[in-house]
Amino acid sequence: MSIIVLDPGHGGSDPGAVSGARQEKNDNLRLGLALRQRLQAPGNQVIMTRSTDVFVPLTERSNISNRANADIFVSLHRNAFTNTTANGVETWVQTGVPLRTAANAHNVQNEIVAVGVQSNRGVRFGNYVILRNTRAPAMMQELGFITNARDNQLFDQHFNAYADAIANGILLSLGQPIPPSASNAIASIQRTLNTRYNAGLTVDGRYSPATRSALVAGLQTELNRAFNANLAVNGVFDAATRAAITRGLRRGDRGNWVYILQASLFVNGFSPGMLDGSFGPMTDAALRNFQSVRGLAADGIAGPVTFTALLGPVAAPPPPPPPPQPSGTITLIQRTLNRRYNAGLAEDGTYGPATRKALITGLQLELNCTFGRDVAVDGVFSPATRAAITRGLRLGDRGNWVYILQASLFVNGYSPGPLDGSFGPLTQATVRAFQAARNLVVDGIAGPATFTALLDPVAS
Ligand SMILES: [Zn+2]
Repeated sequence: MSIIVLDPGHGGSDPGAVSGARQEKNDNLRLGLALRQRLQAPGNQVIMTRSTDVFVPLTERSNISNRANADIFVSLHRNAFTNTTANGVETWVQTGVPLRTAANAHNVQNEIVAVGVQSNRGVRFGNYVILRNTRAPAMMQELGFITNARDNQLFDQHFNAYADAIANGILLSLGQPIPPSASNAIASIQRTLNTRYNAGLTVDGRYSPATRSALVAGLQTELNRAFNANLAVNGVFDAATRAAITRGLRRGDRGNWVYILQASLFVNGFSPGMLDGSFGPMTDAALRNFQSVRGLAADGIAGPVTFTALLGPVAAPPPPPPPPQPSGTITLIQRTLNRRYNAGLAEDGTYGPATRKALITGLQLELNCTFGRDVAVDGVFSPATRAAITRGLRLGDRGNWVYILQASLFVNGYSPGPLDGSFGPLTQATVRAFQAARNLVVDGIAGPATFTALLDPVAS
């Protein structure tokens, strides 16, 4: 989760812009508190530069963000102008910021515009102390003019929707999922597709297969209009649709086809700036970013390959990665333990505690049978088990007990040759290697110390 700093502008002795009885500082704080609630809900840490009506100097506001090492900083304001007809919503970023930061501002601006505004004044670049001194990607949101009656009416009427929208824009910028809501940019795309192409979509703000299909139908319609492609407008990204994209969209292009591209980038999680049908630098950057993430040539031209990646048939999910290659030998050991000692092991080729326990059980049974011991057969490498190994296994020995030794060496990563129950020179050399590695007496005889090191989980 992320650290978000919200900065309700002005406060205390500084009312901000004033219009009659209405003071900007109060609108900003009310919005900030509403945003805090929405952003904390999914688990973010939200820090307010002020959460009450107090004066906080500009430098301190930036310092709060810098000290917190914030991931994003959003300053909240209302606009003002002497001419009371001035209206609309704009979002500011510092001139020269990375496109990524401008994309954050576009996310917020797009979401607000999708709710409905008098005019979309866009994302603007300027020089502000609050933006300049803040290290986190920073924006300043001007949610309408406090000097315009209709903007104030919209602010009050759509307050919750605007708060949802700004929160959504912030979450989008942080790469977090936005909660289902009818008021977001995807809903705006759905409304546009309905109006422009009679898509008949439910405006639910969620990128669904139906929305994808409507984007494809829009693309087909535009290809028919622009290039006489004569495509069936069926919402299916088929070979004919792909083949009809003969000239890739590029910077400087305009029109509904560009809108389809921008909307397709947006629903794929890449912010192309304003969804305005104009292929500018933000769309170019988002397109190249998408291309590079998808392993395509990042040429900034949306041709058939790029549109296929954006809207084409959903690729079949990749086959699940193969399970770790089970060791055939360990599977054989498990099978032998099952048959010989009723161990009940999964024959999965993986050496785990159950297989270890079965090897100890086998050892205990062989000690009891071969040497007449009376060790509890419980699969626990107990002191009694260890004490029962009075005669170490050695060169020339044969039988199931040797098999247990060979299997125990194998599961510990040593290869004693064929697991044949016959203690030959290879098994002896392997016991010596194991003993040397474990700082035991290197005598090639598997006595209590060697078996402890092989099978006691505490020892290994
Ligand atoms: Zn202000």
